[in-house]
Amino acid sequence: MPIPSTSTPELLSTPDDLRRWSLACRTAGLSVGMVPTMGALHAGHRSLIDRAVAENDRVVATIFVNPAQFGPSEDFARYPRTTDADLEVLVAAGVDAAFVPSVETMYPPGLVTRLGISGPLGDRLEGASRPGHFNGVALVVTKLLVAGLPDRAYFGQKDAQQCAVVRRLARDLDTGVEIVVCPTVRDPDGLAISSRNVYLNPEERLRALAIPSGLAAAMARFEAGERDATALATTVRSCLENERLDVDYVAVVEADTFSEVETAAPTNQIVLAARIGSTRLIDVVRLGVDTAPVGRGV
Ligand code: AMP
Repeated sequence: MPIPSTSTPELLSTPDDLRRWSLACRTAGLSVGMVPTMGALHAGHRSLIDRAVAENDRVVATIFVNPAQFGPSEDFARYPRTTDADLEVLVAAGVDAAFVPSVETMYPPGLVTRLGISGPLGDRLEGASRPGHFNGVALVVTKLLVAGLPDRAYFGQKDAQQCAVVRRLARDLDTGVEIVVCPTVRDPDGLAISSRNVYLNPEERLRALAIPSGLAAAMARFEAGERDATALATTVRSCLENERLDVDYVAVVEADTFSEVETAAPTNQIVLAARIGSTRLIDVVRLGVDTAPVGRGV
């Protein structure tokens, strides 16, 4: 007989609290789903949480703005922090526990252990633009999985290279955790929802629609038979540059390794990063899998 969940999530603030909560669930024969987030919860996060609630007896959402995955000149200090509103989202979603640790609890003085993601998966594209980023992601995700002992952990396809890194590390470290990747949630105009969209002013928000437009245009070319990866990437890049976005990269990659391909095939992904003013956005589509994002001019 499952233990009925309460409407207010149990608030857990240390990894030991998280472990005790999870062990109690598992001892009672209940499966545990985990949804790691950095807070500022939006409909994208909510889709992961809803799926976790549907697929597990108990769900813990984690809220932690992880300093280890931000570079020195990145937006750690100004990253939106909305814990009270986030907890309301978790109550409404029927989450059973919220893990909200402090930086000092996750990274106590004297911590010397590091994790590294080697090869193109760690070094290329996001890894090249944000040196050390995936090592920081790997460290925090590993700490969460080790303490939280979930059966399943939920991640968003929007952060495509992060998904590949996490899938790989869950396997490499023999965690036994099933990594579930959930589709990108978009605003009606096609822009992928992101906590960083709040940085955009109205004019930038409009120009940002070049991202879904460019991806949709490349998908249309792929559907029409274009297989040259450079041609597909150039289609996206031109759309971004037409709206004066500062392109960091556009690439067609193999989904698991993030190696760039010359000839595009179904399940390959078009990934991109671009800056609008001081805001850096990323996006992705899976060729032959996703429906094209709706965008201005498409
Ligand atoms: P973040 O709080 O940005 O670290 O995101 C936490 C999780 O939510 C990550 O697995 C993200 O990939 C996922 N996520 C963020 N935005 C979206 C979105 N628009 N659609 C689906 N998942 C998302």
